[in-house]
Amino acid sequence: MSSPSADTLPLIDPFGRAVNYLRISVTDRCDLRCVYCMAEDMSFLPKAEVLSLEEIDRLASAFVRLGTRKLRLTGGEPLVRRDIMNLIRSLGRHVKSGALDELTLTTNGTMLFKHAAGLVEAGVRRINVSLDTLDPHKFQAITRWGKLSKILEGIRVARDAGLAIKINCVALKGVNDDEFHTMVEWCGQEGYDLTFIEVMPMGELGDLSRCDQYLPLSVVRAELQTRWTLDESDYRTGGPARYVTVGETGRRIGFITPMTHNFCESCNRVRLTCTGTLYMCLGQEDAADLRTPLRVSDSDALLEQAIREAIVRKPKGHDFIIDRRHQAPAVPRHMSVTGG
Ligand code: SAM
Ligand code: SF4
Repeated sequence: MSSPSADTLPLIDPFGRAVNYLRISVTDRCDLRCVYCMAEDMSFLPKAEVLSLEEIDRLASAFVRLGTRKLRLTGGEPLVRRDIMNLIRSLGRHVKSGALDELTLTTNGTMLFKHAAGLVEAGVRRINVSLDTLDPHKFQAITRWGKLSKILEGIRVARDAGLAIKINCVALKGVNDDEFHTMVEWCGQEGYDLTFIEVMPMGELGDLSRCDQYLPLSVVRAELQTRWTLDESDYRTGGPARYVTVGETGRRIGFITPMTHNFCESCNRVRLTCTGTLYMCLGQEDAADLRTPLRVSDSDALLEQAIREAIVRKPKGHDFIIDRRHQAPAVPRHMSVTGG
């Protein structure tokens, strides 16, 4: 049997991890200003620096040829980018052909009422919706600009259109730590899975301190166990979350613990920004420019070579720390640049 040629080999990093999951931040802009994610007076990238939707499609399709099986669109808020549904519909061809196992997105839910049906038609089967509280006043305080009722309506429309929903909830000390039971109960009633996330030190927040926000998920889990039966589960979505099943509701709860438990040994992903910069790790600075090889030639040979060279530089892991002695962010860019 002949061995495969170098340009058909799947992407494997120096630590033997297969890289088959690409997350794309399709815009750094957003219609909300969550306090842990952005400063209120953010400056955004000039439009000229941002890849066109056609360029993002070409880049994503190159990754699919190199063995990517899962694509997640994120941002900023992916559904605020103009004509984003054209890109989603176009990428859906890879799901329909069987080249991709999954096309999905992470959204704040503000535009779901408008786009849910289109997402299903495009081949999206499940989505993550970020929601940290069910209290309208707190929701406005966390997101600065958001209206809870609009989000809840959008999530319901998405569920009724046939999308499986996972709620992402960032645990915030003194903000939503009295609501975790309510979230579990509500997700049980509505039929949603739920994932708790530890806040990560990414980007400057103006006057706010990460120390004031940070709550380890060991605390969240201990609190949940006072009321719910949490059965260990070996369910995995290919991501960093570890799951339990709630005996009383039958729904899953995931825990993403970048701060207290490092999960980098099984990392299978890389992240592309809307300017075509590829970050091989969410928590490290090293990055590869894919926009130049993309624009320099109509053939994808240089692009594929640049992707392979980047994967060789994928670091072993991140080293996030939040405490009073480490007030500076681990990386200067906000989560909205690399997309969470
Ligand atoms: N706008 C979309 C949304 O909110 O779902 C997608 C982009 S957002 C950056 C992706 C996820 O990152 C959200 O679930 C958000 O809560 C989370 N996030 C943002 N900043 C974070 C931080 N500093 N630490 C932990 N999670 C963060
Ligand atoms: Fe926008 Fe999502 Fe960041 Fe909130 S978490 S500001 S919704 S990008």
